[in-house]
Amino acid sequence: MKIILALLALFPALAVATPDQRIERSIGEIEQQVIDWRRDIHRHPELSNREERTAALVAEHLRRLDFDKVETGIAHTGVVGTLRGAKPGPVIALRADMDALPVKEMTGLPFASEARGEYMGREVPVMHACGHDAHVAMLMGAAEVLAQHRKQLAGTVKFVFQPAEEGPPPGEDGGAPMMVEEGLLTGPDAPEAILGLHVWPEDSGSLVYRSGSFMAAADTLDITVTGRQTHGSSPWLGVDPVYAAAQIVTALQGIPGRHLDITRGPAVITVGSFQGGVRGNIIPDQARLLGTIRTFDAGERERLHQRLVATVEGIAAANNATAEVSITQAAPITGNDPALLQRMRPTLEWASRGTLAEGNLITAAEDFAYYQEHIPGLFIMLGVGDPTVPRAERPSNHSPYFTVDESALLTGVRALVGFALDYAEAAPSP
Ligand SMILES: [Zn+2]
Ligand SMILES: [Zn+2]
Repeated sequence: MKIILALLALFPALAVATPDQRIERSIGEIEQQVIDWRRDIHRHPELSNREERTAALVAEHLRRLDFDKVETGIAHTGVVGTLRGAKPGPVIALRADMDALPVKEMTGLPFASEARGEYMGREVPVMHACGHDAHVAMLMGAAEVLAQHRKQLAGTVKFVFQPAEEGPPPGEDGGAPMMVEEGLLTGPDAPEAILGLHVWPEDSGSLVYRSGSFMAAADTLDITVTGRQTHGSSPWLGVDPVYAAAQIVTALQGIPGRHLDITRGPAVITVGSFQGGVRGNIIPDQARLLGTIRTFDAGERERLHQRLVATVEGIAAANNATAEVSITQAAPITGNDPALLQRMRPTLEWASRGTLAEGNLITAAEDFAYYQEHIPGLFIMLGVGDPTVPRAERPSNHSPYFTVDESALLTGVRALVGFALDYAEAAPSP
C-alpha cells in the first residue's frame, strides 16, 4: 500500500477508486456480517477439541469464497484455508482460535450462550469467555475481503482456524503444538510469518503490542511431599508432610525475589491447591501442591525451575520427608518479533487509526507461542473494553461478564487484511 500512496502523491487525479479506497470500502461493507458471525458463534460456543459446528461454518465460508485449498480436521477440528494472490510473493499465516470455556455466561446479552458441554466427565455450561468468537468472525471477514482483492495480493495467505487454545481436555492432545506437528509450518506452502490477534479489555478499537516478550511462559507445577503417617497427638513418631509442604509454599515466594534477575522480567509462582490428610488428628503420609509458574525470560525460567527443585528437595530433606517435583510446560513465551514488528508497524498504525500503543506485560499465556518457536510472529491485543468504565473495573477474559465491544471488530479485520497485503511490500531493503 505504501507504493500506492506514493503514486497518489504524484498523481492526485488517481485518488478516486484507488485500490486502497476499494479495500477500505470492502472492509467497511463486511462489518455487519462480521458482527452477525460473531453473535452466531457466541450463541453456540464449543469446548476445546469439540469445535465442530464452528469449524463447519468456517470451512463452508472459505469454500464459498473459492479458496485454493480448504483443509479440515487439522489437529482434530482445525481448518486451514489457502488463498493464493494474483501476484507472486511470500506465504504468510493469519491465526484465529475457536474454542470456548466451561463458564456460565452472565452478560445478559440477547445472544448470550445457553450451551452446555462435557468437561472431565461433568456437564458444564459453555461460554466464549475469552472472545475467541470474535477472533473467528474477524478472520472470516478478512478472508472475504482478501478473496475479493486477490488481484492486489502478492503471495499466499494461510487462514489458520485453530482448536483448543485453552488447552485440550486432560488425556487429549491438541492446539497449536498439534497444528505444528501436523505440518502447518512445513512443506511447499510453509508460512514465513504469522499474525494473531486477541481481544482484551483495553480501550475499544485500540491495538496494543509489546516488542519482545509480551505474554508469559506458563508451566504447571505438581509437588508431592511424602512423610510417614502417625497420630496427630504425637508428631515425633512420624514425619509430617503437611508441615513440610507449608514451608515449601512459603519458601517458593522467595525464589523470584532472592534468586532471579528481576531486571530480565518478573516471575510468578502460585500454589493454587494444597491437599493433604482427611481429618485433624491424623498426620497423613502425603501432601500435594498444585500450582502455576509464569516467566518472561527463557534463561530466568530455567533458573527458576532449578531453584524450585532445589528448594523443595532441601526443605523436604530438612523435615525428614521426601518430595517429588513435576514441572510441565503449558506454553512458551508469546511476544512480538522485533524486526517483524518494525516492518509491519506502519500497517498496524493504519489499522489502529493511530491508537497503536505499547502495553504492559501480560502474565496470562497463549499457545500462539508454539508457532513463534518456528517462525517470526506478531501477537497483538485488540481493545474491546468500554472506555467509559475504568480499566480495572472492566471484566477480564474468562470472566462470566466478559463482553466484546463489537465496534472494535473492524480494527481487527483491518489489521489482518493489512498484514496480508503489506507484508511483501514492507520487506526490508536488502
Ligand atoms: Zn483464554
Ligand atoms: Zn484466549
